[in-house]
Amino acid sequence: MIKDNLLEIKNTLPEDVTLVAVSKTKPDEDLMEAYDAGQRIFGENKVQEMVGKWERLPKDIKWHMIGHLQRNKVKYMAEFVDLVHGVDSYRLLSEINKRAKQHNRTIDCLLQIHIAEEDTKFGLNKNELIAILKSDEYLQLKSINVVGLMGMATFTENEEQVRREFQQLKSIFDSIKPENPQIKILSMGMSGDYRIAIEEGSTMVRIGSSIFGNRNY
Ligand SMILES: *Cc1c(COP(=O)(O)O)cnc(C)c1O
Repeated sequence: MIKDNLLEIKNTLPEDVTLVAVSKTKPDEDLMEAYDAGQRIFGENKVQEMVGKWERLPKDIKWHMIGHLQRNKVKYMAEFVDLVHGVDSYRLLSEINKRAKQHNRTIDCLLQIHIAEEDTKFGLNKNELIAILKSDEYLQLKSINVVGLMGMATFTENEEQVRREFQQLKSIFDSIKPENPQIKILSMGMSGDYRIAIEEGSTMVRIGSSIFGNRNY
């Protein structure tokens, strides 16, 4: 099942769109089924769970932290995390920088932008984003690389609203790119809305339930 779902989705994705298989709450066997079908990028939203899976599963897996991240948890994943999607403050960026440096590595990050109407979703607005990217403190951080933006649309049946929100994120992405050439990734789209996200310019989709089935919390 997982293998079929994965291959079916992969076949429909444009070549330049990266698939993050969101495996949160799922057991190792499920991840291995996707791994055996060729998947190497997995997304998790809890640090402890991701650390456990990293310890047990093949070392060529790239682990993406996609959830809201607390600063005191950064140290546990700094050794191995490949991309942090949901960075929404300078303080968090600075903590990731500090921990990356301790491991002599550079950690790629995406800044999360608030595009949804719901105020439960985290993220920066455009002005806050620009303020960070222009600040001297940010330019001092040598052990992180901000390589793109991430956003989540409102959870709604209203496709036009979802599309508008993705368009808004894409327009912010395009507006900052000229002055920030290292910004290349636009992480938007989940199981319910990734087709719209791709039409609106996503370069990275985070898909969980359409690959692994519904989650039981
Ligand atoms: C869980 C999660 C996903 C995947 O959601 P699905 O609807 O299962 O595809 C994507 N992005 C984030 C940030 C998530 O927390």
